[in-house]
Amino acid sequence: MPAVAFVSLGCAKNLVDSEVMMAKLGAAGWALTPDAASADTVVINTCAFIDPAKAESTEVILEHAARKRRGQQLIVAGCLAQRYGEQLQVLVPEVDGVVGTGAYAGIVELLEDVRSGLRPVRLTREAEPEHDFLPRLVTTARHTAYLKIAEGCDHPCTFCIIPQLRGSFRSRSVESILAEARALAAGGAKELILIAQDSSMWGRDRGERRGGLARLLERLHEVDGIEWIRLLYLYPGTVEPELIEAMAALPKVCKYMDMPLQHAHPEMLRAMLRPSNGERYLEIVQAFRERIPGVTMRSTFIVGFPGETEEHVEYLEEWLERAQLDRVGFFTYSREEDTPAASLPNQVAEKLKRRRLMRLRDAQHRASQAARARRVGQTVRVLVEEQRRIRSSDPLRAQLGAASAWFGRSMGEAPGVDGGILFRGNAAAGQFVDVTLDGHSAFDFVGREAVLIG
Ligand code: SF4
Repeated sequence: MPAVAFVSLGCAKNLVDSEVMMAKLGAAGWALTPDAASADTVVINTCAFIDPAKAESTEVILEHAARKRRGQQLIVAGCLAQRYGEQLQVLVPEVDGVVGTGAYAGIVELLEDVRSGLRPVRLTREAEPEHDFLPRLVTTARHTAYLKIAEGCDHPCTFCIIPQLRGSFRSRSVESILAEARALAAGGAKELILIAQDSSMWGRDRGERRGGLARLLERLHEVDGIEWIRLLYLYPGTVEPELIEAMAALPKVCKYMDMPLQHAHPEMLRAMLRPSNGERYLEIVQAFRERIPGVTMRSTFIVGFPGETEEHVEYLEEWLERAQLDRVGFFTYSREEDTPAASLPNQVAEKLKRRRLMRLRDAQHRASQAARARRVGQTVRVLVEEQRRIRSSDPLRAQLGAASAWFGRSMGEAPGVDGGILFRGNAAAGQFVDVTLDGHSAFDFVGREAVLIG
């Protein structure tokens, strides 16, 4: 039985693609191995969103190319493969096959071709119409699984290469999503994390008018075994009142809003070709707060977009003060070739971008600390992830009075980006417990004695 090793880089959407490929190979008789050195084939699923991601992907490809054994095959998949196609094989001759973002479902046939001596490059942009992701091999903790509800993007954001790589927006059908949700629940998933480039756009290309995503949430809510449904990557131009109502009304839907906004100043948003303006964004934030008391809100912003002035930064700083979001990620603008923003005048110097980023981070820090402080004293339901060792430098260690504790997340924390809750008590990975929050650091909460729910 030939063995294949996977290296999955980039975002959760890429991870789902890797999991689909792994399952397809497993069903075709391939053994999966974590050991790239002994594998017959190594597949590297790459990211090409911004320069640092491209650099990481390139580095990993070169490392594996340098270590490649005689008779071993090296395959490059994902966004970098889609973007540079045949060039990859020219630049790195050790690469035997290239499979882009719409062709990965044909991984089995591609590997067969490679084993018969061909050097295939498959770069279809549009994935198979039904996005049939089953079977899928989930690599995250058993109780949490990502569920991709759509692929591609129709928005014209001038800094972004994704629509060129992933094609136009295609929603999966309700039936296909429900079938996958049931399969994930049967495999032990308790938390589903819905992802897409623009999750709130779901259904529009399938003729759903208003409230498509709200109706999808209602259907997913009925899936036995699923306790939490988390939505990531909402887009301010497609969030509808129906969605906010559904998030408020359906108890399994996490009271968590993740909406990348990128900027707040109208001139910057216009230059980015992003919808509306900061005032409208505040209205959306307010609508979530009014309908979903205690909702946790997260966003991301780009700092140093071409043409950004001190006045724009000041505006964003004040906006953050007014919005009082719980958590915010800041990224310096990355000049991506083949995007409209790359050729805009008045590019901002790297040093200035970094200075502005620090300034905005400081401004948000106060809001984030206030948001954390507001939660202290509350009892929250936590999905337990694992037992963790607490570093001696961690300020929460003294409060816990122990060098290790359970780590979990409430509805207010998404995995990988938000930190979580540390507590001592009676618990087990994959179970729910109620934890009373006693304190916090800049990232995590610390909680008291847990009540095991099951
Ligand atoms: S919404 Fe904008 S930033 Fe997000 S993937 Fe689409 S084009 Fe890129």
